Amino acid sequence: MPYHAAVASDAAPPAVASDAAPPAVASDAAVRLVAAAVVPMEPPGQVYRPGVVDLAGDRITWVGPAGAAPPHHGPQLQLSGLLLPGLVNCHAHSPMTLLRGVGEGLPLHDWLRKAIWPREAHLTPDDVYWGMTLACDELLRCGVTTSCESYFHDRRVVDAAVDAGLRCVVTPGILDPAGSGAWRRLLDIAVALHGEAHGRAGLIEIGFGPHAAYSLPLEALATTAHLAAEVDALVTLHVAETAAEGAALEAEHGMTVPALLASAGILDGRVLAAHGVWLTDDDVALFARHDVAVAHCPQSNAKLGSGVARLPHLLRSGIRVGLGTDGPASNNDLDVWEELRLAPLLARAVAGDAGALGAADALALATRGGGRALGLPVGCLHPGYLADLIHVRLDDSRFVPVLDDADLVSHLVWSGCSALVEDVWVGGRQVVRAGVCTTVDGRRARHEVQRRAERLAGAVAQPGC
Ligand SMILES: [Zn+2]
Repeated sequence: MPYHAAVASDAAPPAVASDAAPPAVASDAAVRLVAAAVVPMEPPGQVYRPGVVDLAGDRITWVGPAGAAPPHHGPQLQLSGLLLPGLVNCHAHSPMTLLRGVGEGLPLHDWLRKAIWPREAHLTPDDVYWGMTLACDELLRCGVTTSCESYFHDRRVVDAAVDAGLRCVVTPGILDPAGSGAWRRLLDIAVALHGEAHGRAGLIEIGFGPHAAYSLPLEALATTAHLAAEVDALVTLHVAETAAEGAALEAEHGMTVPALLASAGILDGRVLAAHGVWLTDDDVALFARHDVAVAHCPQSNAKLGSGVARLPHLLRSGIRVGLGTDGPASNNDLDVWEELRLAPLLARAVAGDAGALGAADALALATRGGGRALGLPVGCLHPGYLADLIHVRLDDSRFVPVLDDADLVSHLVWSGCSALVEDVWVGGRQVVRAGVCTTVDGRRARHEVQRRAERLAGAVAQPGC
């Protein structure tokens, strides 16, 4: 059966209607959101109380204090909470909801080879669709409006993201199992997907996701980078995630992995390096010269015992840094709120300095920093930016007291959480209402992922599989 036929049409979003609410599907009609507070992240630390955000189509047209808002005659929504840009997840393998928690306690190398890759060998396109659909429900309810994804069967990742209304940079995974030369076929698939799906529904950008220098021949990385540069596509790959992963390459070439990547021309285009835990000072300077962005994944790095990236050093060096959850097999969730809190906690703990990373700067990593790392006009509430924003409840003990504007920002970082995300818009379309994702049948997605995960577990338990 063609896999397209296997996906029921119930993945389409149900109609959501309310007299007071903005339209469920974006239109060009202007909509005004008036909130008790607006934190536009432009610049970080700015707060409007009360504030206004005007939307038209999929864009923001005006942001500012309510008292200075221009005349408006269209629909208007009064919100009792706080408007914030949607959170940006810069590194994820979200269909791995199918493998959530697999390989508990293993270090990265064993985790990949013993637990993850054997299961992934049995994945079907429909598995990936449902894994991604469940992830979309989780991401959107957490207030994540953009995710940079790298996985397999990526056409189905695109389908799931479009059905759910999640903005995605989809970077098809390119690997070369056992030096098989499979990377050439996977690269062809990525190029074809770029031609088919780039720009789909105004939500999808297609990039390229070569896994890492240690898992691919240099020729594969260089060819990928060359093809990506031809279409100005993002290349994302894992770099310096663990201390030992680059040892063989360094011994062979006499230089660090980032230096090797640069020498092969792989850093010349739009490049996003995931992790960057074990970058030397020279590596960081090299990244700055090539304007390579970094997806900082503090929770995944901590859980797999990989280390702590030198976040303050990266930022001081002018690197564009966003936050990533990594896949839910190594995190185990897709909640960027946890990352935006853990990032400053670890930075301060390692530095022995409570001023190592401020609250506004931590919040910026999860919003405008993510947008800059991906090269997308998201992460700020600013005219011309995409209308990706979230409404956070303030009627909660975690936001009391508020004595000045800075309290709101610090409460968001230190006591905010995904459970307080009330409403979410992506490209002006409301996809979460009163904490419920309106575009995903969550019950069905949980059922599908449960039974498919059971099948995958059974497959690797079979002798010879
Ligand atoms: Zn990863």
